[in-house]
Amino acid sequence: MAKHVVTLIPGDGIGTEISDAMVSVVDATGVDIEWEVADAGAHLMDEYGTPLPDYVLESVRKNKVAIKGPITTPVGTGFRSVNVALRKQLDLYTNLRPCKSIAGTGARYDDVDLVIVRENTEDLYAGIEFEEGSDDAKRIIELCGETGAGTIRPDSGISIKPISVTATRRIVKFAFEYAIANDRRLVTAVHKANIQKHSDGLFLRVAREVAAEYEGRVEFEDRIVDATCMGLVLHPNTFDVLVLPNLYGDILSDLCAGLIGGLGIAPGANIGDEYAVFEPVHGSAPIHAGKNEANPTAIILSSVLMLNHLGEREAAQRVFDAVVKVIGEGKDITYDIMRTITGSTAGSVSTTDYAKALIKAMNS
Ligand code: NAD
Repeated sequence: MAKHVVTLIPGDGIGTEISDAMVSVVDATGVDIEWEVADAGAHLMDEYGTPLPDYVLESVRKNKVAIKGPITTPVGTGFRSVNVALRKQLDLYTNLRPCKSIAGTGARYDDVDLVIVRENTEDLYAGIEFEEGSDDAKRIIELCGETGAGTIRPDSGISIKPISVTATRRIVKFAFEYAIANDRRLVTAVHKANIQKHSDGLFLRVAREVAAEYEGRVEFEDRIVDATCMGLVLHPNTFDVLVLPNLYGDILSDLCAGLIGGLGIAPGANIGDEYAVFEPVHGSAPIHAGKNEANPTAIILSSVLMLNHLGEREAAQRVFDAVVKVIGEGKDITYDIMRTITGSTAGSVSTTDYAKALIKAMNS
């Protein structure tokens, strides 16, 4: 039996191509991994009646560790996000997204080294919604009027933003524990507590309570989300660990990916007390699907996080060093980085050739 059995959810869109590239690179490290492939996505609806068949969750529950490519969530249909469902059903309450500059990406900054710790289970992202004109929406509108909470126009759709003490406490604790384990000096809680007093206000209050437990070990500050966005664009190197409610975390992750050269290179991990699912920040990028041109770096750097999680630190470092080397040399780079650097995609290499260059760099 292999030393590690890992669930591989290839995803759709560019998912299968970048997953294949990632597997080829991780296999080349020599780490003994058996990949248990568990397909998920809209293409399974006809066969299984769901985009997330039971075998996917069963496989992750058995193996405890998974790596996944992106999965499309069609807009404006009844189809709920498979990604959100996975995070909820496995209680993967932390979305960890390290953003570190890599020389050669053509990014605006070369000294970004921050980590997004995003709450993954509640907030507007929980998908608790009431359709415009529905009886339930009408009841909520009436309730808001009766209680004096506020007037809502009758033709409104409604999304609920729950933020709990329980979820806030554990995500902020995670941020502090992560900071200590990784020699980080500062945790910044990001919120809009001045306006959303009962949700973000609660988040801030609980964050301050948890911060008090870590006083003297890790510094703490809080910032309003809009000011944080400006601060990130102006002075990203002043940030260290950011802890955020779900939706702000989602949005700021992409902003931070932009700071280090784009979505093609931004890795991530969904972590709970029992399971961990590693995945890139980016989505399925349908316009690039099937063209063997997408950048697999984000999922490959996600595999670096996974290898570290599995205790395979030396292999993780070799993969990371290969990425730094190949992108730094600027010869075998995918279209997205080439376009950032030169303004044109000419001379870029395919997904598979980039993976081959990484393997060559690891073995040289
Ligand atoms: P996206 O992240 O898929 O792509 C936006 C753009 O970023 C792409 O058009 C492309 O220009 C660039 N890009 C992204 N990944 C890249 C890569 N690896 N290499 C090179 N360029 C890359 O965002 P989107 O188009 O808004 O979303 C597409 C679908 O993905 C949607 O259905 C969305 O719901 C889903 N999605 C899934 C996940 C997930 O599986 N965790 C995350 C985000 C979005």
